[in-house]
Amino acid sequence: MANVLIIGAGGVGSVVAHKCALNADVFTDITLASRTKAKCDKIAAEIESMHGVTIKTEQVDADVVADMVALIERVKPFLVINVALPYQDLPIMDACLATKTHYMDTANYEPKDVAKFEYSWQWAYKQRFEEAGIMALLGCGFDPGATQVFTAYAAKHQFDEMHYLDIIDCNAGNHGKAFATNFNPEINIREITQPGRYWENGEWIEIPAMSIHKPVVYPEIGPKESYVLYHEELESLVKNFPTLKRARFWMTFGQAYLTHLEVLQNVGMTRIDPVKFNGMDIVPLEFLKAVLPAPDTLGENYTGQTSIGCQIKGVKDGQEKTYYIWNNCDHAETYKEVRGQAVSYTTGVPAMIGAMLLIKGEWLKPGVWNCEELDPDPFIEQMNKQGLPVQDKILTEEIV
Ligand code: NDP
Repeated sequence: MANVLIIGAGGVGSVVAHKCALNADVFTDITLASRTKAKCDKIAAEIESMHGVTIKTEQVDADVVADMVALIERVKPFLVINVALPYQDLPIMDACLATKTHYMDTANYEPKDVAKFEYSWQWAYKQRFEEAGIMALLGCGFDPGATQVFTAYAAKHQFDEMHYLDIIDCNAGNHGKAFATNFNPEINIREITQPGRYWENGEWIEIPAMSIHKPVVYPEIGPKESYVLYHEELESLVKNFPTLKRARFWMTFGQAYLTHLEVLQNVGMTRIDPVKFNGMDIVPLEFLKAVLPAPDTLGENYTGQTSIGCQIKGVKDGQEKTYYIWNNCDHAETYKEVRGQAVSYTTGVPAMIGAMLLIKGEWLKPGVWNCEELDPDPFIEQMNKQGLPVQDKILTEEIV
């Protein structure tokens, strides 16, 4: 049915390419492009041998709008799936505008020199995308992405009014490495070391990083210490669901991970400003990324599960209730299916589903949209079919 261009050949890009190939009736023509073409070729060979599907590969520096425009004009995709880094969001959106091509990504734009997570830059494209008759679907991974679909699903089917939202994200997996991040280390560490923030009574409450935490009991996993972080989907969720009195995001971290991170911070290795080394400007966090294991190398022998969901408290027919909707995903299973670990998988599969719903027309509308603004039902239906089964229940006792 459609021709897609995937940008980025890391952990997530690889899963998106595999899953598109596994849905070759929808994705009839797939091109994978990245800065390093050899990475795309390796993934293409894996897809050919595992699923018998041929995909094309290309080289591109997506920071250069003219190069992106030339690539889009050559490939002529219906949609660009951006799973490179957040820094590339705006140049790729500009190239999509110039060529009138639909766009989607899994993380909001960030400027390189300041770790700032907000949608303002991308929302500013709304009118231009509308006028061009093309769509930009923002943040369609798991969180952001599926967590907003879960919230929209709860609003549609479970509540008259939602009051309290807690997004809880657990990785109870073990990759056997002393220290590694499950998605791009630079982006991950920038996110975790910034101050925490949550929404309460109409305003953002800022807290020191990692200062609010408690054990949360995750399904099939058990209790795991969970920390309040700022996460980008909170910004659009509180805008689109104004009855929310409080919205928080929690993520689990093991003690060994936190100790490594604290030491790296204390010695200056997480700095994002350049320092002089042997006459060269180097950014410590970029150097750290170069010596850490890449997310796409963690999959082999990774054991355990992830569990990500939303606990929502609100009112239905005058009665208070608490609803929980979640997915658990197993690292070893996802490696078997697409050679990727569960964090890449839980991001890449929703991205493929978002792309599929645009192609099928079920989610397609001009403008710039976040996932909770679209019908959650076909998305949940596809999650159940595509390896991310959704579970839900009414809670008698709150988990968070
Ligand atoms: P990786 O570091 O594994 O991969 C990033 C890829 O982007 C690499 O292949 C890299 O290219 C490519 N890239 C970087 N810069 C450019 C550029 N200028 N032009 C072209 N390609 C470029 O990261 P992940 O796969 O783990 O993460 C990908 C994205 O997914 C990130 O934005 C991350 O924030 C997001 N994410 C979203 C989640 C969600 O749930 N919504 C969860 C996890 C991640 P090369 O290797 O060729 O140099």
